[in-house]
Amino acid sequence: MTFRRKRIPQLWQRGTLGRRGTVDAVTASEPTTTQVRLRPEIAALPPYRQGRPAPADGFKLSSNENPWPPVAAVAEAITAAANEVNRYPDATALALRERLAERYGVTSDEVLVGAGSVSLLAQFVLAAAAPGDEVVYSWRSFEAYPGLVTVAGATSVQVPNRPDHGHDLDAMAAAVTDRTRVLIVCSPNNPTGVPVTTDDFERFMASVPADRLVLLDEAYAEFVRDEASVDGSSLIGRYPNLVVLRTFSKAYGLAGVRVGYAIGPVPILDAARATAIPLGVTAVATAGALAALEPANEAELLGRVDELAERRDALRESLIAQGWAIPAAQGNFVWLPTGERTVEVAEALFAGGIVARAFPGDGIRVSVGEPESVDVLLRLLGELV
Ligand SMILES: *Cc1c(COP(=O)(O)O)cnc(C)c1O
Repeated sequence: MTFRRKRIPQLWQRGTLGRRGTVDAVTASEPTTTQVRLRPEIAALPPYRQGRPAPADGFKLSSNENPWPPVAAVAEAITAAANEVNRYPDATALALRERLAERYGVTSDEVLVGAGSVSLLAQFVLAAAAPGDEVVYSWRSFEAYPGLVTVAGATSVQVPNRPDHGHDLDAMAAAVTDRTRVLIVCSPNNPTGVPVTTDDFERFMASVPADRLVLLDEAYAEFVRDEASVDGSSLIGRYPNLVVLRTFSKAYGLAGVRVGYAIGPVPILDAARATAIPLGVTAVATAGALAALEPANEAELLGRVDELAERRDALRESLIAQGWAIPAAQGNFVWLPTGERTVEVAEALFAGGIVARAFPGDGIRVSVGEPESVDVLLRLLGELV
């Protein structure tokens, strides 16, 4: 196998990738300047860099995508919807909200659909946090959080993860000040994979003032097999300040059409509706999501999720047997705490055909992909441990 890698060390030296703190992009443009008066904190934000494409005979394990293409019926629903794209979509995605409301035992007003749960996170932060306000979240966590907070004009308060790479919820609760408006809890945490337990979360909710918004980001909920893990769907209606966020991007394999949802109290969801850019959720996306929720299709999709969860557990066990200190992994990915060796290990993986997401100085997140990718991964990492 030959893989082009000669540009990568150059990019690291130039530091163009380090601006975002990840090293999985190949295209980095030279810094540009403008006379136009932009918001300085926005102009300073790192531009989004897509994960670099996998080499021809390699594997892209850098974005936690579902390795299967859509089931046929879902692809057909999307294709059928494509024939009507001369029409605007339903602005509130009512049909999908009704379907989800039925599932979770809430009213359709307690469901908010967005163009991926990243859009929803942005909407909630905008709805609650203004300049001078603080948003508390664990770190390291989802890469999108810092940017969303900055765009809202608010201030990030990052609470370090515990030594086991999980959220330190007591420290997060202790970080609440008069200025705190939002607390984001990510379970299982992206990129470390560690879930929050129900006990810890309930204690956290009891200590956070009820007038501060808590967002429980459960992008990987369907992959969780640890019964001690928090399950947002069982907490719906219990707290006046809790919103649960889920997505069709990971377990349901619809990352490309952009659709996610939030469940929570109506006044909070109404505020988030007000901050949305109108008509962001397309009819193509809702058609895909509705088809994915059809019983036969969903059974097939969740069967794949079962397979991925088993593959994840086996991968983690094998890596631990090799000598890697892999934290609890309840998403569709594992975390390699490579520390100072991160760039070296990521480069060796890339040379061997695996594109992973590297966070220099910290660790590497590797998605659970095709069975063959696991074989390659174990071979490469066995030599690197
Ligand atoms: C993938 C992911 C999301 C959602 O992504 P969308 O595609 O926008 O739905 C949200 N939170 C975390 C932590 C994720 O990893």
